[in-house]
Amino acid sequence: MSGPLIQVAIAHSPFREKFAIPRQPGLANAARTRIELLPPYNRPEALEGLEQVSHIWLLFLFHEVGSCPDTLRVRPPRLGGNERIGVFASRSTHRPNGIGQSVVKIERIDGSNIWVSGADLLDGTPVVDIKPFVPYSDIPTGAMNGIAPSAPARCQVHWTESALLSARQAGQRLGEDVQTVIEQCLAQDPRPAYQAHNPSREYGVTFWDLNIVWRYPTETQIEILALIPQAE
Ligand code: SAH
Repeated sequence: MSGPLIQVAIAHSPFREKFAIPRQPGLANAARTRIELLPPYNRPEALEGLEQVSHIWLLFLFHEVGSCPDTLRVRPPRLGGNERIGVFASRSTHRPNGIGQSVVKIERIDGSNIWVSGADLLDGTPVVDIKPFVPYSDIPTGAMNGIAPSAPARCQVHWTESALLSARQAGQRLGEDVQTVIEQCLAQDPRPAYQAHNPSREYGVTFWDLNIVWRYPTETQIEILALIPQAE
């Protein structure tokens, strides 16, 4: 094999840490990500024609996973975190070359930036290729996956009054639909599959500059307790 991959773009997403990022694209459509082309590809010519296309494939590097060349079997969260399957039967981030792929919707193209929705990429992810989605070929007739036959079940998300107020204020300040992004992401239940339910345990994650704190009053319900803006 020849030469290393070239980074063509960088993803700017709300997701500042791996925890609580949706486990596939399309699950949190309110989340907007900016794909910024990098030199020498940061010219509008590189995107000519893309205005005729609704979705793109992003090929990217799981840059925050160490290399795992010997991984043959993985424990996907989808199977409860206990059962193992072959690495090439999974979309795990732990794979020999650490390459991720996601189909995302183009919201708008602005110079050498592509604004997309529904991405599952960490902020700062290096993008190594961008390709148009081709529906007649990329949605094969009879496609099925017995391991992940449909989208995972969702948790119900509730807010305390003060957290909801903070979400609305942050939404205005950031120009983003903060409330919906948080609801869509947390509804996916980011807890590790093997973790036992503990109603008093608090969880936290940072989206944008906001630290979000929540707990699980019941196994399938989330209560968002607070949104705390982080100092720069
Ligand atoms: N759709 C992709 C990714 C699936 S795994 C594919 O099928 O290849 C999705 C998980 O990847 C997210 O939950 C997030 O935690 C993790 N992730 C996203 N960007 C990452 C990055 N740059 N480095 C490490 N992990 C990342």
